Amino acid sequence: MADSTHPPEVDRVDASRKAIAARRARASVKRDIATRVITPQAALRRAWADTASAAGTMRVTEFLTSIPAIGEGKRDRILSELGISPVKRLGGLGSRQRRALRAFLDRRMPEPLPRPGRSRLLVLAGPTAVGKGTVAARIAADNPDIVLSVSATTRAPRPGEIDGVHYRFVDDAEFDRLIAAGDLLEHATVHNSFRYGTPHAPIRAALAEGRTVLLEIDLQGARQVRAADPSATLVFLLPPSWDELVNRLVGRGTEGPEERTRRLATAKVELAAQHEFDYSVVNDDIGRAAQEVVAVTR
Ligand code: 5GP
Repeated sequence: MADSTHPPEVDRVDASRKAIAARRARASVKRDIATRVITPQAALRRAWADTASAAGTMRVTEFLTSIPAIGEGKRDRILSELGISPVKRLGGLGSRQRRALRAFLDRRMPEPLPRPGRSRLLVLAGPTAVGKGTVAARIAADNPDIVLSVSATTRAPRPGEIDGVHYRFVDDAEFDRLIAAGDLLEHATVHNSFRYGTPHAPIRAALAEGRTVLLEIDLQGARQVRAADPSATLVFLLPPSWDELVNRLVGRGTEGPEERTRRLATAKVELAAQHEFDYSVVNDDIGRAAQEVVAVTR
């Protein structure tokens, strides 16, 4: 018999299914914080915009230990310093506790601020499978005034790739010659296999004409461009979540399990470097992400 103390079986099944889904959603947000797909402050904004959300129902203890470099000992010290009980959920924090937690994070791990006075040399980087190539291609298709740099590479063309359009396909000897002649703005070995580099001359020419140049390159390349031209605009493309990044990598099916594991390890390292960039853009929708990248140069 259903009464208030004994809910019918269907209700209990439904409630436990909801509880499992809520736990999964919280675990997903924790992975996003741990892998730096989102900043801790962004998680707090979500929690306080909707206290019933995955972030809002997360315990403050789980939140803190999901932040890289905060272990259980540090977590307990922080909570007692801020006067927050460990049983609290983020959405249940009072306004004074919210301010204290926010101020603590801003002091210890400030969010990057956009830097004004950036140049028209635009670098788009981000972890494996985030969709850099697709977003870059969309930007080039929608903005004829933006020049997409064509990299040199030692890897073989894939079906449909055209020499001089998608890449300049060269052998190792030619790549060495380009480096020796100082023809590359940057170059790197990517995913421990092939070499990729950005020819300098077309970029100099396009910038001299006042055009914007877009480079879709890896993190090592982005750092070299920053070193060569500190005013370059560096944009980091983020996945909507860590789980989505894993799904995209598995879904495209172009790498075996071993290579996927290697790329995901690299992705974690790359995500940890996003504070070196001027802007972060979330690739949840290709058209929107492309527009947002273009907006930083206008
Ligand atoms: P793919 O072989 O899939 O076209 O590209 C593999 C990786 O190489 C991508 O992460 C891409 O961003 C990177 N890449 C492409 N061109 C360059 C380049 O000129 N320089 C650097 N450093 N990385 C590049």
